[in-house]
Amino acid sequence: MTQNIDQNAYDVLICGARAAGAATALLLAKAGLRVLVVDRSAPGSDTVSTNALMRPAVLQLHRWGLLEELESRGATRIERTTFHYEGTRVPIQITRQFGVDALYAPRRNVLDPLLCEAARTHGATVLHRTSLLTLQTNARGRVAGALIKQAGGRSTTVRAHMVVGADGIRSRVAKLVRAPFTRLLNNQSAVIYANFTAVPASVTTAGTQWYFSRHAGAGVIPTQHGQVCVFVGCRKQELPGLLRDGLEAGFWRGLIPFSLDALPALRAAARTASFRGFGGHPGYFRQCTGPGWALVGDAGYFRDPITAHGLSDALRDAELLSRAILAQRETALADYEAERDAISYRMLQLSDEIASYRSDMDRLGELHRELSRQMHREAELIAGWDTSPASCRPTPLSTAMGA
Ligand SMILES: Cc1cc2nc3c(=O)[nH]c(=O)nc-3n(C[C@H](O)[C@H](O)[C@H](O)COP(=O)(O)OP(=O)(O)OC[C@H]3O[C@@H](n4cnc5c(N)ncnc54)[C@H](O)[C@@H]3O)c2cc1C
Repeated sequence: MTQNIDQNAYDVLICGARAAGAATALLLAKAGLRVLVVDRSAPGSDTVSTNALMRPAVLQLHRWGLLEELESRGATRIERTTFHYEGTRVPIQITRQFGVDALYAPRRNVLDPLLCEAARTHGATVLHRTSLLTLQTNARGRVAGALIKQAGGRSTTVRAHMVVGADGIRSRVAKLVRAPFTRLLNNQSAVIYANFTAVPASVTTAGTQWYFSRHAGAGVIPTQHGQVCVFVGCRKQELPGLLRDGLEAGFWRGLIPFSLDALPALRAAARTASFRGFGGHPGYFRQCTGPGWALVGDAGYFRDPITAHGLSDALRDAELLSRAILAQRETALADYEAERDAISYRMLQLSDEIASYRSDMDRLGELHRELSRQMHREAELIAGWDTSPASCRPTPLSTAMGA
C-alpha cells in the first residue's frame, strides 16, 4: 500500500512500527489523532524474537478485535505449557480467564504487519523503509517534529505535537533526547534460536515446553502453520564457549542436556530461516517522557528475554501511553511512567534473577510461580480498562499539551 506524508503537522509521529509502535499508532488513530509511523525496516520483515505472547498480550489483541485474524493467519493455539526442572515436569493447562483460553506465539512477520494494518485501517499513515534521522525542537526546546528519510528519497521535515520513540533497545529517539536510565540491572542471558517447519503435530499440540537446569535453559514454542521456534539460553559469559564451532553447532550442543522429547523430530525438520543469536543486554527502565516526546516498548524498558514478556510489555505500555496522550495533560505522561514502573518493577527483578542462571530448581519454581501471579494481576488490570480509552478530542492536542 502506498501512503504519502502529509505536509501538515501530525498529532503524533512514532518511530518504530512493530509491537510497541504499531499498537500505539492503532490506539491513537482509533481515537481520532493524526498519526504517522515510520520504520526503517522492510514491511513484513521478521526480527529477533522467540515470539511467545503471554496472557496479558493475548487479552489486548482480543480486546482490539485482532485475535480471530491472528488465528486465520495460521497462529497456533497453545492450550498447554510444561515447565521441565532438571527432569521434573510441571504441566499446566491454559484455562479460560478474562475471555482468553489459549496463548499464541506468531512470528513477528505476522504479528507486526497485523498491528500495522489495523493502525492503517483506523487512519494512521505507516511508512516502512523510512528512517528517523534527528528531532526538531521549537523555540522553547520542546520536541516538535523530526527529520525523516525514505529509502532513495530526500530528507523531509515532519512537524508533530509529540514524537514517540518505539524504536527498540538501541532507540535513536532515547539517545537524541538524552533519556537517562532510571534503573539498570545486572544479569544478561544469551540466546540462540531457530524456527523449524513441518514438525509433527505431536510437537505443536504438546504446547510450549520450557526447560531449565541450573546454568542453562531451552524452549520449544509453537508459532504458526505447524512451525516451532526452539531456543537455547545461557549466561552471557558462557556464550563464547557454546559458540566455539559456530551458531548451529552451539545450538545443538546447548540442547543436549535437556533431552527434549521433540529432539529427533527437530533434527529431521527443515528450518524456515538461519540460526540467530542474541548476546544479552541488561534490563533497564529509562525515563520515558519529556517535553514533546515519549518512549514505549524496548526503547524505554527492557527486561531479559528469558521470561518472554517484552511483547506483552510493549502492547500494555502502548495502551498506557495512548491513554496518557489522549488525556491531554502533561501530568498524565508522568503518570504513564510511574504506572509502567509500578506494574513492571517486580517483573523486571524476577526476570533479572531468572536470567542469572544461578538459582536451584526449587528457587526457580518459586520465581516462575511469582511471575505467574504478577501476570495474572497484570491481566486483571488490563481486563478492567475501558475498551474505548477516548473517542474524541475536545481541544487540539497542540493546545492541550502546551506545544
Ligand atoms: C532473543 C530474544 C527473544 C525474545 N523473545 C521474546 C518472547 O518470546 N516473547 C516476548 O514477549 N518478547 C520476547 N523478546 C522481547 C521482544 O522481542 C521485544 O520486547 C519487542 O520486540 C519490543 O518491541 P518494540 O516494538 O518495542 O521494539 P522492536 O521490536 O525492537 O522494534 C523497533 C523498530 O524500530 C525500528 N527503528 C529503530 N530505529 C529507527 C529509526 N531511526 N528510524 C526508523 N525506524 C527505526 C526498527 O527497524 C524496528 O523495526 C525477545 C527478545 C530477544 C532479544
